[in-house]
Amino acid sequence: MNEIPYKIYLEENEMPTQWYNVRGDMKKKPAPILNPETLQPITLEELSPIFCEELAKQELDDTTTYFEIPEEIRNFYKMYRPSPLVRAYCLEKKLGTPAHIYYKFEGNNTSGSHKLNSAIAQAYYAKKQGLKGVTTETGAGQWGTALSMACSYFDLDCQVYMVKVSYEQKPFRREVMRTYGATVTPSPSMNTEIGKKINAEFPGTTGSLGCAISEAVEAATTQEGYRYVLGSVLSQVLLHQSVIGLETKAALDKYGIKADMIIGCAGGGSNLGGLISPFAGQMLRGEADYEIIAVEPASCPSLTRGKYAYDFCDTGKVCPLAKMYTLGSGFIPSANHAGGLRYHGMSSVISELYDQGLISARSVEQTKVFEAAEIFARVEGILPAPESSHAIRVAIDEALKCKETGEEKNIVFGLTGTGYFDMVAYEKFNNGEMSDYIPTDEELKKSLDTLPKVD
Ligand SMILES: *Cc1c(COP(=O)(O)O)cnc(C)c1O
Repeated sequence: MNEIPYKIYLEENEMPTQWYNVRGDMKKKPAPILNPETLQPITLEELSPIFCEELAKQELDDTTTYFEIPEEIRNFYKMYRPSPLVRAYCLEKKLGTPAHIYYKFEGNNTSGSHKLNSAIAQAYYAKKQGLKGVTTETGAGQWGTALSMACSYFDLDCQVYMVKVSYEQKPFRREVMRTYGATVTPSPSMNTEIGKKINAEFPGTTGSLGCAISEAVEAATTQEGYRYVLGSVLSQVLLHQSVIGLETKAALDKYGIKADMIIGCAGGGSNLGGLISPFAGQMLRGEADYEIIAVEPASCPSLTRGKYAYDFCDTGKVCPLAKMYTLGSGFIPSANHAGGLRYHGMSSVISELYDQGLISARSVEQTKVFEAAEIFARVEGILPAPESSHAIRVAIDEALKCKETGEEKNIVFGLTGTGYFDMVAYEKFNNGEMSDYIPTDEELKKSLDTLPKVD
């Protein structure tokens, strides 16, 4: 067989024309999302005041396996996709491993992450519905940036509630969003009722994704012609992100490579879900087997230490309830640097696949993550996002295991983005000032005790 090139590119005409909905192939489906007031499965009519109509339909559809990608979205994708699948020859050499390591790099666009894949889809459907604008939250800032890019492309107003700790740590992120025309408000703010309430209850709080979501939902439902959009967790987002996995699979197939292990970082589960969907689909249909690993921060360990239960998706309890692995919607993680992985819950699709044993999960500590980030940066040239570096950590650990056993495993991981806006975190690490925060069982119990009683 031909030698595998460093960059396994697909041609433009080999790009996916449909998104893949893994729920369609799941015999046991993720539990339905519930109306927070009635605790009954939520209907399209009930979702429509919050979400764009077409996106609400995608959210509720757990049977259709393939959705056509509208041509305008495909054309936008062509500006920065297909994203490269890279054979990490230099990292393999550095580690002295017989393993073959591949990474799918999603950082080749201004948002610096995979989030643009869903942002452009969501902005497209909002525009098609004739809306004036959208509201959202952003944690580390990648989603807000991606959405502001997508909104400016379709001439939509974009209002972003940014978790306060990130707003302060990442002023340049904020400025990129404003450059694309978005309004950026630190959350919790005094603009919304829920923001005022959270500020009163937790004075001086640095915020959380859960708070910012509540504020953005309130802003959407109190302004005419606005809807709320979300960059992770939701099943519609995993659907859009399936473009990552479909391209990865097409590229591997093109070179006759069979992945043994697929690794992704997990915040709300969207990149992981997108990357693994086509592979998990094969497993569900009994066509192939893979070892799939979700990697989460030890500081926010929803899969490895959370409960599989119905919970609120936001602190203000205005969003639908989802059954997911969760730490409780009141969980506010320490102000560490895993910015984009600080969400208390996990995609209901990932949660169900994990519960069925199709995927496993690992948690890793922050300093170990930055160690891996630097090993990677120094040989592969890309400065990785801290979130992505969680996946790098486990890919390196697994490659080192192969060194001991002599196995030539094919390890594929998702490199979700770049870390140029995370230099405060890198600085802390380089100065030896970074610590590892791991919540105690008592702390977790406190937030888990507040889970709603649903049966
Ligand atoms: C947002 C983000 C993540 C985590 O979000 P998921 O929904 O779990 O994918 C990971 N990496 C980067 C670079 C991000 O921006």
